Amino acid sequence: KPFSVLVTGGAGYIGSHAVLALLDAGWKVVVLDNLATGFRWAVPETVEFVLGDVADMEMVQATIAKHNIGAILHFAGSLLVGESVGNPLKYYRNNTAASRTLIEAAIGAGVHHFVFSSTAATYGMPEVVPVAEDAPKAPINPYGLSKLMTEQILADVAAAHPLNYAALRYFNVAGADPQGRSGQSVAGATHLIHIACEAATGKRGHVGIYGDDYPTPDGTGVRDYIHVSDLADAHVAALEWLIANPSESLTANVGYGRGYSVLEVLDVVDHVTNMAIERRQEPRRAGDPPTLVADNRRILETLSWRPRHGDLASIVASALAWERTLQERGLSS
Ligand code: UDP
Repeated sequence: KPFSVLVTGGAGYIGSHAVLALLDAGWKVVVLDNLATGFRWAVPETVEFVLGDVADMEMVQATIAKHNIGAILHFAGSLLVGESVGNPLKYYRNNTAASRTLIEAAIGAGVHHFVFSSTAATYGMPEVVPVAEDAPKAPINPYGLSKLMTEQILADVAAAHPLNYAALRYFNVAGADPQGRSGQSVAGATHLIHIACEAATGKRGHVGIYGDDYPTPDGTGVRDYIHVSDLADAHVAALEWLIANPSESLTANVGYGRGYSVLEVLDVVDHVTNMAIERRQEPRRAGDPPTLVADNRRILETLSWRPRHGDLASIVASALAWERTLQERGLSS
């Protein structure tokens, strides 16, 4: 490989899986993480680890020079929708301002490729589902807007400087490394599959179903759940595409293009665990769209990426295995 890859947020959930995917593809990797929410143990011993902040321009440029960094995969950021409503400045600092500084550092230090963690939250409440990349971007919370603003910065910078980028808009990320090397470990995650796994392992008593009167087949919310290892692979494919197409950039949804309702997810969890997890009907959660499913034609047409772990039962089984690992190792809160 011609250079090393800097992974910001490489000690976090998605970043740590991307590190594994890069290593599996033969890349040399340097992780930059401030461990605000990540875990040192989530980064393999063989990987160079730099403790620091992406907004520290001098340190980032020194790291780029020292390790012959030619591309940045930027995962570091904040990702809780509800928190972003109560503390918008944190999101505009960690997601927008810090990214702006990192991009400036990249330009100054001669990095040519940048892969950015974006989100389906940039669409807000899409009118047409499956939602395609050119649908209106109308985020309904500071989280989505903080990511959309960074996409815009990248577009403008790529037009002015020798840098190309991929902005990957994630749908509902779930599951864990099939080899059991990493998984979602941050306490307090409120995502459905995580909550259901906690209920299955006895960490909580029941799962609340947030609304049963949505305009969906069974009345509960429908989402495009994607296995974190497939998402990680999409980053490696995007990196290789950026290198092969230096004058082009890409904004692409990463999802499977199919949705499951809350009830369907819970049925799969019951099936995988051979349990009947208690379900409680609860009110709708503010800001939840009824259906969020990716139109994924662009990524399938552009990249060599193909999903390998899409089966919902495998996603749930891997998440469950990781939850058990966390509890056995005493790593869970
Ligand atoms: N959901 C639920 N109970 C929970 C968590 C989530 O019914 O304990 C529903 C939520 O209303 C949505 C879907 O599950 O319809 C996915 O929510 P999640 O928080 O996993 O992801 P989001 O789509 O909000 O990013």
